[in-house]
Amino acid sequence: MDNQLVNILLVDDREENLLALEAVLTSPNYHLKKALSGEEALKWVLREEFAVIIMDVQMPGMNGFETAKMIRQRDKTKDVPIIFVTALSQTDENVMQGYSVGAIDYIIKPFNPSILKSKVNGFVSLFLNQKKVEEQAKIIAIRTRELEDANRTLKSNEAMLEALVKERTNELTNTNKMLLESEEKYRRLVEESPEAIILTRENSDVPFFINETGVKLLKASSKEDVQNRSLFQFIHPDDHKKVRETLAKNRDGLHTYEHRLICLNGDIIHVEVKSIPFDYKGNSCLHILVRDITELKHSREFMQQTEKLTVVGELAAGIAHEIRNPLTSLKGFTQLLGDRIDSNQDYMDIMITEIERINTIVSELLLLAKPRRMDFHEINIAMVLKNIITLMEAQANLYGVTLKCEYCDDLPEFIIHGEENKLKQVFINILKNAIEAMEQGGDILISAQPIGNEIEITFIDSGCGIPPELLSKVGQPFFTTKEKGTGLGLMVCHSIIESHQGTMVIDSVRGKGTTVSIKLPLYQTQLKTIEYSS
Ligand code: ADP
Ligand code: MG
Repeated sequence: MDNQLVNILLVDDREENLLALEAVLTSPNYHLKKALSGEEALKWVLREEFAVIIMDVQMPGMNGFETAKMIRQRDKTKDVPIIFVTALSQTDENVMQGYSVGAIDYIIKPFNPSILKSKVNGFVSLFLNQKKVEEQAKIIAIRTRELEDANRTLKSNEAMLEALVKERTNELTNTNKMLLESEEKYRRLVEESPEAIILTRENSDVPFFINETGVKLLKASSKEDVQNRSLFQFIHPDDHKKVRETLAKNRDGLHTYEHRLICLNGDIIHVEVKSIPFDYKGNSCLHILVRDITELKHSREFMQQTEKLTVVGELAAGIAHEIRNPLTSLKGFTQLLGDRIDSNQDYMDIMITEIERINTIVSELLLLAKPRRMDFHEINIAMVLKNIITLMEAQANLYGVTLKCEYCDDLPEFIIHGEENKLKQVFINILKNAIEAMEQGGDILISAQPIGNEIEITFIDSGCGIPPELLSKVGQPFFTTKEKGTGLGLMVCHSIIESHQGTMVIDSVRGKGTTVSIKLPLYQTQLKTIEYSS
């Protein structure tokens, strides 16, 4: 651009004037174009771009002013600087007309060559600057467009990248979801296992996981109750040594052992434990399976106990038999003696009553010890009660307890259909519980009365009673609050009463006493009802 030649138009109708101008202005930077008339000048201007025009005013045909006017009218050339050269028109009027058509300057002939030269140089450098500015504007425009394009590409790239990131995130989320789902499945499998599952790290006895079954087993209300505590807080102190020894050997594989656990509510349960070493997230851990075998253990014990009782029962039966025989002769001879010795009649009566008592008790023992068959008979329930009371009275007295009956001696005939021995077992159990509840002694009230088709028998004691929260547990197998209790008495009672189509209800107030009421269908009424209805 700097080396580009600049066009300068010289306009004069006289050849020699043009030559003179050319001589002054010749320069390696200029390209001088010559025109001999206004018309010719217009043609040049249409064809090329000029930095400056030097024009004679007086010309035949279109004069300088007219030519300038035309040039100014064209948009492309309206700003080209024009220098008028004149010899004649030096009047102000002339000069004014020149300026009004757009002249930039005036040179009066004869002109000073160096002034003209420097004026032209001035315009040329203006023109070049203008060109440069335009060029730069163009470059800036191009740059701006380029930048805009780049920005657009960048934006679309950014959007693409964003979409890509989104897609990848989705993929990851999905994979994660799958992982979570399978983890969730595994978790539920462990969580809902019927066996308690506890996970601990090797060398640690604080579990980092326990399932719901485990929480229930330990009678905890939530996992938090268990999770941050040492397992040894739940293991019975007497079993600590045994468990520690087993755990120390655990590294070499599966171990099965039994011990006792103390639940959060104080219950002691027997458990069978299987602990299996395994790797979890790079840590050596123990997978501990715990199964409650309390009932199993109890029923084992119970069976042993029953076994023992059967043997004892058989023995008792044999002994009772042996006692009854001599008792018969004792009674006979006492009566005989009584008839002969008048003075001590009172003593004789007492002796006979006592011998009869022994006889009743021994008979009861014999009945209870008899092998059990379910054969139902017509039973006078009041009679049964009376016999039982005779049997239990001695034991009751030992505890300072008196048994009081409320159905008087003229027993109405309450007949029920059932098995005498079983019903006796029920009454003995209930009376035994009542006596055991009355540590301070007192009365036990036993009553029997018919209600509709049934007979209701109630046992009212004034013992320690049963707290409301335990009342629902009473009668469940193995529920006992006694050190040497079996927790089976009431369960057996329930099942016997049920097999007689009866009901048994226990009411109790803590500290006040307990009432057990049993309802049994009356046999005769039953028969009558059947007769009437058929
Ligand atoms: P066991 O007598 O061996 O404990 P039971 O089934 O006969 O078993 O009784 C279960 C529990 O019910 C007893 O341990 C006791 O806590 C409670 N219970 C039963 N009868 C009474 C009673 N009359 N008064 C107070 N508590 C009783
Ligand atoms: Mg009992």
